[in-house]
Amino acid sequence: CGIVGYIGNGSTQSVLVEGLKKLEYRGYDSAGIAVFTNKGLEVVKAQGRLVNLEAKLEDEPLVGTAGIGHTRWATHGKPSDANSHPHTDESQKFSVVHNGIVENYLDLKDELIAQGHTFTSETDTEIIAHLIARAYDGDIVKAVREAITHMRGAFALGVLTEYEPTKLVAVRQASPLIIGLGDGENFIGSDIPAILEYTRNVYILNDGEMAVLTQDSVELMTIEGNFISREMIHVDWDA
Ligand code: GLU
Repeated sequence: CGIVGYIGNGSTQSVLVEGLKKLEYRGYDSAGIAVFTNKGLEVVKAQGRLVNLEAKLEDEPLVGTAGIGHTRWATHGKPSDANSHPHTDESQKFSVVHNGIVENYLDLKDELIAQGHTFTSETDTEIIAHLIARAYDGDIVKAVREAITHMRGAFALGVLTEYEPTKLVAVRQASPLIIGLGDGENFIGSDIPAILEYTRNVYILNDGEMAVLTQDSVELMTIEGNFISREMIHVDWDA
C-alpha cells in the first residue's frame, strides 16, 4: 500500500520509518523494512500498526546505507508477520517491496515450485523476489527487467540485492512511484509527502518506467531498457 526507499549516508532506518508514518493515511495492516547492514540484507517486519515495527526496531536497530520500507494492505494472504513485506527468496540475497497485485502469481508460483523454489508466504509479492533471483546473473537491473516480463497486473516495486549494495532499483507499472533527489542521497516513495522532509526535488515516474538509484545518481529508463530524461519538479508546497 505504501513504499519508501533510501540510499545514502544518512540515518536509513529513520528515513524509512518516518516515510512510512507519512504514508499511514493510506491504511495498512502491517509494515516492514529491509536495510543493508554490515551483516548483509536484514529484514524486520511486524503485523499491525507502525508502533509494532518500531518496538521491534528498538530491540534491533538496523544501521546501513540503503533500505526499503513498506506498509501493506493485504490483497493476497492474510495480514501476518510472514506475509508482511519486504519479501525475499530462499537465498536471502534479494529484497522486494511491492504495491499492487500480480494477477498471474499462482501460475508463476506453480512454475517456480516446479523449478525447486520454496515459499514462506502466501503473497503474490514473494514470487517477484524469486523471479529476480532466478534471472540474476550479475546485473540487478537486467534481472528486474527480465522478472517483470513475466508479471501481469499492477506493481510499484523497490528492490535491493546484497550483490550490488550501491544500487536501489524502482519500477512503476500502474501503481504510483516517485523519486526524490538529494545531495549524496536519493529516495523513492509512493507519494511526495513520504520524502518531503528530506528533499523537494522529485521525478515522477510514468507507467512502464524504472529508476536505478545510487547515492550520487539517478538513471531513468523504460522497462524495456531505453534511457529517458525527465524534468525535475521542485515541490513548493508543504505536506
Ligand atoms: N498484493 C500485495 C500483498 O498482498 C501488496 C499489497 C499492497 O499494495 O500493500 O501483499
